[in-house]
Formats: sequence, C-alpha cells, structure tokens
Amino acid sequence: MELRKDPITRSWVVVGKAEKPVVAADDCPLCPGHREAGKTLLALPANGPWQVRVIPHLDPLYRIEGDPARTAEGMYDRMNLVGAHEVIIETPEHSRTLAAMSDEEIERVLIAFAMRIGDLKRDDRFKYVTVFKNSGSMAGEEWPHSHSQVVATTFVPRRVLYELRASRDWLTERERCVFCDIARQERRQGKRLVDEQGPYLAFCPYASRVPYEIWIMGEPHNSRFEIPDPTADRRDLAALLGRVLRRLVRVAPAYHMVIHTSPNERQTKGELSGHWRTLADEYHWHIEILPINAINSKSYGIKETYFNALLPEQAAEQLRGLDSL
Ligand SMILES: [Zn+2]
Ligand SMILES: [Zn+2]
Ligand SMILES: [Zn+2]
Repeated sequence: MELRKDPITRSWVVVGKAEKPVVAADDCPLCPGHREAGKTLLALPANGPWQVRVIPHLDPLYRIEGDPARTAEGMYDRMNLVGAHEVIIETPEHSRTLAAMSDEEIERVLIAFAMRIGDLKRDDRFKYVTVFKNSGSMAGEEWPHSHSQVVATTFVPRRVLYELRASRDWLTERERCVFCDIARQERRQGKRLVDEQGPYLAFCPYASRVPYEIWIMGEPHNSRFEIPDPTADRRDLAALLGRVLRRLVRVAPAYHMVIHTSPNERQTKGELSGHWRTLADEYHWHIEILPINAINSKSYGIKETYFNALLPEQAAEQLRGLDSL
C-alpha cells in the first residue's frame, strides 16, 4: 500500500489492499483482559482501574516506523504509508456507549483525545492528527465496543485543507476568523442552534451535508483542540457533547464524529507553507458529527454534490425538542 496524490484536487489517496487478520467474532479485543499485556499508550485516570485506554491499532493502516520518502513518479507524487494509528477504548464496559456516559467520563475521553493529539504533534514527520469515531455498524465501526481512533499522517486531509484555504481567504479579506463569525451568527439567530453550555455551542450548519449534521465549537477563538482556552471548562464541552449525542441517537442509528484541530504547527513545508505563520489566527477547532440514516445511505448517483432533504433549521428545531437526559 502507498499514498498517491491527485494533482488536480491535491488529495492524498491510500492505494492498495489491506490484509485483514481474521478475528473470532465472539472475541472482543477491546474488553479488559484481552491484550492487556500489549502496549498501553495512555490510561486514564492515571491511578486505579482505567476508564480510557489508548493502544496501537491492532491492524494499522499506517506504520509508525520509517520515512515518508516522498518521491516523484514522472509528474505524480507518492509517499510511503508512514503514520500513527491508535485506538482509544472509551470504557472497559463492552456495551456502554459514549452517549450513555456521565459528563465526567466523556470529559476523560476528550482529555485522551487532546493528550494523543498533543503527543503526536511532537513528531515532526506528521502534518496532521485526526481523531474520529465511527459509531454503529452503518458507520463502519470496526468493533461494537465504544472506541475512537487516532491517525497521524504525513499530509493534511483533504477536507481540513479546504477549510484552511477558506479560512485563510476570509482572514485576509475581512481580518476575522470565519469560524468565530459562524459561531456569533448562529448564537444570534438561534434558528439552527441545538444546544449550548458555557462558551460552547452546538448547531446544524447552514449548508448541512446530511440530515441532523451537527457542529460543536467554542468561543473565544482557539485553533487547537488539544490546548483548551484557560477561560473554558472542558466539563462544559463534555456535558454538551453528551446531550447532543443523546438527542442524535433518537434520530439516527449511527454517526461519524471527527475532531478538526489545527495542523502540526511544527510543519512548514508543502501544503502548509502558505499557512503556518497565521495558523493560530486562521483556524478554529470544531467537532463535526455526521449522522447516518437509511435515507442518506442511498446513492444519488452524482457523488460530487451533497443532497440533503432536511432543512437544517427544521433539524435543529426537532433536536432542540428531544429529551437529552
Ligand atoms: Zn468489548
Ligand atoms: Zn475563531
Ligand atoms: Zn471541519
């Protein structure tokens, strides 16, 4: 397997076939007692039995050792699949979901996200650290046991690159952060707002790609998820995320969640060369949640355009009305 760059869209694509090891269906590798002898990258709380445990992915797409060795093949670019691939086990309990956890437990999961992003950003080879969660079989979750994944890559993922370009242009033209502008308008208008707590807000984006798409972000401005604003309490974020997820599971059987944070500030080459001086001003961390339901798992043929039959204003109104306890 290798990475290849599309010269038109500038997206990196993993090309090749992964070999999947055969695991017995009744054997959950994330349950306590399984592979406990294996490497633990992080366990929280620090003392006593763990609630959150981070381990290397059992079948990693990216390998931590080696050099990305970016080379040209005529006009094209390719790289070795170097990166980090980790699993964040969110609970020792096999059937407990993130939505069912207490604020304190969700906060611990968020702290684990932040600590792994911070740690992996210390590796100069990595341009970006992605934390994501596939919840539910329709979302392509690898194991039913509640977990998230961390992937550190030698490139910036396509969607983040789009966001970086747009936010840099906004900053250049208006001297303001586009994400801060979004947060202000959504709070002021309220019609797409789902919930808020402290400095954090949850809303259905104006151009939602799928029904019940939700973004969570905070004010004031902060580019890095891993370094919380001193005035913000992460417990507020945990409480808000819990309430949002409890509403969401009533309208969708599965969801994708991704943390979008600033790229590695230590990386100044390639796609980040025009950004790194202003990264802290132009980017703003946020959480994107994309629910999956039967309606949007249908193919619409034209994959390049999102088609969302549900107005975000209606989605937000419905979500606001749902019980979040
Ligand atoms: Zn399990
Ligand atoms: Zn901002
Ligand atoms: Zn984003």
